[in-house]
Amino acid sequence: MSSCIFCKIIKGEIPSMKLFESEKTLAFLDIMPLSKGHSLIIPKHHGGRLTDIPDDQLVEILSVVKRIATASGAENYNILQNNGRLAHQVVDHVHFHMIPKPNETEGLGIGWPTS
Ligand code: 5GP
Repeated sequence: MSSCIFCKIIKGEIPSMKLFESEKTLAFLDIMPLSKGHSLIIPKHHGGRLTDIPDDQLVEILSVVKRIATASGAENYNILQNNGRLAHQVVDHVHFHMIPKPNETEGLGIGWPTS
Protein backbone atom coordinates (compact mmCIF):
# COMPACT_ATOMS: atom_id res chain seq x y z
CA MET A 1 0.00 0.00 0.00
CA SER A 2 1.77 3.13 -1.24
CA SER A 3 0.88 5.47 1.64
CA CYS A 4 1.60 2.94 4.41
CA ILE A 5 4.66 3.86 6.47
CA PHE A 6 5.51 0.22 7.24
CA CYS A 7 5.18 -0.73 3.54
CA LYS A 8 7.71 2.04 2.87
CA ILE A 9 10.03 0.55 5.50
CA ILE A 10 9.66 -2.87 3.85
CA LYS A 11 10.58 -1.36 0.46
CA GLY A 12 13.53 0.53 1.98
CA GLU A 13 12.01 3.91 1.18
CA ILE A 14 12.15 4.79 4.90
CA PRO A 15 15.24 3.71 6.85
CA SER A 16 14.91 1.31 9.76
CA MET A 17 17.13 -0.69 12.07
CA LYS A 18 16.34 -4.18 10.77
CA LEU A 19 16.67 -7.14 13.13
CA PHE A 20 15.29 -9.97 11.00
CA GLU A 21 13.99 -10.41 7.49
CA SER A 22 12.48 -13.34 5.62
CA GLU A 23 10.35 -13.63 2.51
CA LYS A 24 7.18 -12.82 4.47
CA THR A 25 8.24 -11.14 7.71
CA LEU A 26 10.29 -8.15 8.85
CA ALA A 27 11.43 -7.13 12.34
CA PHE A 28 12.95 -3.75 13.17
CA LEU A 29 13.47 -1.42 16.12
CA ASP A 30 10.65 0.93 17.09
CA ILE A 31 11.54 4.56 16.38
CA MET A 32 10.07 5.67 19.73
CA PRO A 33 11.03 2.78 22.02
CA LEU A 34 9.29 2.26 25.34
CA SER A 35 12.44 0.41 26.44
CA LYS A 36 15.77 -0.50 24.92
CA GLY A 37 15.20 -3.18 22.29
CA HIS A 38 11.52 -2.35 21.69
CA SER A 39 10.91 -4.08 18.38
CA LEU A 40 8.17 -4.34 15.79
CA ILE A 41 7.47 -7.55 13.89
CA ILE A 42 5.32 -7.22 10.79
CA PRO A 43 4.04 -9.19 7.82
CA LYS A 44 5.44 -7.91 4.53
CA HIS A 45 2.05 -8.28 2.90
CA HIS A 46 -0.08 -5.29 3.83
CA GLY A 47 -3.01 -5.97 6.11
CA GLY A 48 -4.60 -3.43 8.40
CA ARG A 49 -6.12 -5.71 11.00
CA LEU A 50 -5.25 -9.05 12.58
CA THR A 51 -8.12 -10.73 10.72
CA ASP A 52 -6.45 -9.74 7.41
CA ILE A 53 -3.44 -11.95 8.14
CA PRO A 54 -3.50 -15.69 7.28
CA ASP A 55 -2.93 -18.06 10.20
CA ASP A 56 0.32 -19.48 8.81
CA GLN A 57 1.75 -15.97 8.58
CA LEU A 58 0.74 -15.28 12.19
CA VAL A 59 2.56 -18.43 13.25
CA GLU A 60 5.73 -17.21 11.51
CA ILE A 61 5.39 -13.75 13.05
CA LEU A 62 5.09 -15.19 16.58
CA SER A 63 8.09 -17.37 15.90
CA VAL A 64 10.06 -14.26 14.92
CA VAL A 65 8.82 -12.45 18.04
CA LYS A 66 10.24 -15.30 20.09
CA ARG A 67 13.50 -15.25 18.14
CA ILE A 68 13.92 -11.49 18.57
CA ALA A 69 13.15 -11.68 22.28
CA THR A 70 15.68 -14.47 22.74
CA ALA A 71 18.33 -12.63 20.72
CA SER A 72 17.82 -9.50 22.81
CA GLY A 73 18.57 -11.43 25.97
CA ALA A 74 15.41 -10.10 27.54
CA GLU A 75 14.02 -12.50 30.12
CA ASN A 76 11.04 -10.27 30.81
CA TYR A 77 9.07 -8.73 28.02
CA ASN A 78 5.59 -7.89 26.78
CA ILE A 79 4.13 -8.80 23.41
CA LEU A 80 1.56 -6.23 22.34
CA GLN A 81 -0.71 -6.09 19.32
CA ASN A 82 -2.95 -3.03 19.09
CA ASN A 83 -5.88 -3.76 16.84
CA GLY A 84 -8.12 -0.87 15.88
CA ARG A 85 -8.16 2.86 16.72
CA LEU A 86 -9.87 2.47 20.11
CA ALA A 87 -7.18 -0.05 21.02
CA HIS A 88 -4.51 2.57 20.20
CA GLN A 89 -3.48 1.22 16.82
CA VAL A 90 -1.82 4.16 15.07
CA VAL A 91 -0.15 2.47 12.10
CA ASP A 92 -2.67 0.61 9.94
CA HIS A 93 -0.35 -2.24 9.04
CA VAL A 94 -0.56 -5.20 11.41
CA HIS A 95 2.39 -5.26 13.81
CA PHE A 96 3.43 -6.97 17.00
CA HIS A 97 5.44 -5.08 19.60
CA MET A 98 8.12 -6.92 21.59
CA ILE A 99 8.86 -4.68 24.56
CA PRO A 100 11.68 -5.78 26.89
CA LYS A 101 11.31 -5.08 30.60
CA PRO A 102 14.92 -4.86 31.76
CA ASN A 103 15.93 -4.59 35.39
CA GLU A 104 19.19 -3.43 36.92
CA THR A 105 20.88 -6.81 36.87
CA GLU A 106 19.54 -8.00 33.55
CA GLY A 107 21.35 -6.86 30.44
CA LEU A 108 19.90 -6.88 26.96
CA GLY A 109 22.75 -8.87 25.51
CA ILE A 110 25.20 -7.67 22.97
CA GLY A 111 24.46 -6.40 19.54
CA TRP A 112 21.71 -3.89 20.26
CA PRO A 113 22.25 -0.40 18.92
CA THR A 114 22.84 2.04 21.78
CA SER A 115 20.59 4.76 20.40
P1 5GP B 1 0.71 1.24 17.35
O1 5GP B 1 0.24 2.27 18.32
O2 5GP B 1 0.10 1.43 15.98
O3 5GP B 1 0.52 -0.15 17.87
O4 5GP B 1 2.27 1.44 17.24
C1 5GP B 1 2.93 1.92 16.13
C2 5GP B 1 4.39 1.96 16.46
O5 5GP B 1 5.11 2.26 15.28
C3 5GP B 1 4.78 3.02 17.50
O6 5GP B 1 5.41 2.38 18.61
C4 5GP B 1 5.72 3.94 16.74
O7 5GP B 1 6.78 4.42 17.54
C5 5GP B 1 6.21 3.06 15.61
N1 5GP B 1 6.57 3.81 14.41
C6 5GP B 1 5.82 4.73 13.76
N2 5GP B 1 6.46 5.21 12.68
C7 5GP B 1 7.66 4.55 12.64
C8 5GP B 1 8.77 4.63 11.75
O8 5GP B 1 8.80 5.38 10.77
N3 5GP B 1 9.82 3.80 12.02
C9 5GP B 1 9.83 2.95 13.08
N4 5GP B 1 10.93 2.18 13.26
N5 5GP B 1 8.79 2.86 13.95
C10 5GP B 1 7.72 3.67 13.74
